[in-house]
Amino acid sequence: MPTYGAIEAGGTKFVCAVGTGPDDLRDVEAFPTTTPDETLARAVAYFEARGVDALGIGSFGPVDLDPASATWGHVTTTPKPGWRGADVAGVLGRALGVPVGFETDVNAAALAEHRWGAARDVGTFVYLTVGTGIGGGAVLDGRLHHGRTHPEMGHLLVARDPGDGFAGTCPFHGDCWEGLASGPAIEARWGVRAEALPPDHEAWPVQARALARGLATLVLTLSPERLVLGGGVMRQAQLFPLVRDGVRALLNGYLPLPESLDAFIVPTGLGGNAGVLGALALARDLATGDGASAPARAV
Ligand code: ADP
Ligand code: ZN
Repeated sequence: MPTYGAIEAGGTKFVCAVGTGPDDLRDVEAFPTTTPDETLARAVAYFEARGVDALGIGSFGPVDLDPASATWGHVTTTPKPGWRGADVAGVLGRALGVPVGFETDVNAAALAEHRWGAARDVGTFVYLTVGTGIGGGAVLDGRLHHGRTHPEMGHLLVARDPGDGFAGTCPFHGDCWEGLASGPAIEARWGVRAEALPPDHEAWPVQARALARGLATLVLTLSPERLVLGGGVMRQAQLFPLVRDGVRALLNGYLPLPESLDAFIVPTGLGGNAGVLGALALARDLATGDGASAPARAV
């Protein structure tokens, strides 16, 4: 029985695991993302100690996903110190001598939701994480969407509440979607961390309107059959009905929507494990040669 390795390579922590799927996810180990040398060496040591047949990586980005590119598997223009140009897939693949599948963290999470989570029964959907940033991955007609690079849905330019003077937190765009509605944006607007705001705080209707604007845009652009929402901020369950009402109100009867949006806008089906399970799915697809995942390659 082959064993697959998985890395959820985040900007603050790396999560490594081995296994074959959600019922067999072993030795989950997280460590902080420090320098590329130190962090990748730690990941190599983790997998050398266990032995894997293939490795999948879901990485923070932006990243190069083009299998024909000389910098495939590298982190590209990240503002994270030291990581610009880091050859994440190459270092691991060469050290371990196994094929490596490489994706963005949110694309990997979308893949896992499709295979094992909240989007098993649909072919076209968006997985969105609302956490330290906002990121989205799209599966379109059963395949992960890549296009020229990968979607960067968090930086959609969404409309504002009339009269809202909050400048937003995105270093590139100020009040883009992520700049208005990520966890750090909530903290900047209200002066406390998002998890410290009570469920009946006025922050949540504001947050729900901001989320609904971006989601309505995605509904109009991609015609998804479902929107799956994960990330720390979406642990605020009271957001879901507010967001559903907001999307319906914004679309204003133009598109036929289901009578209830309860099965259209849903929480993640995999808890906090979507990212690492997606990486596992990449490894498995690479080893078995099937699945809906990315072009991956041996290094
Ligand atoms: P990351 O995006 O870094 O992978 P998370 O998805 O946990 O990690 O997102 C972290 C952000 O989510 C922080 O801004 C934090 O304040 C916020 N957050 C975490 N847990 C909650 C919660 N229960 N309710 C609201 N916000 C939360
Ligand atoms: Zn932005």
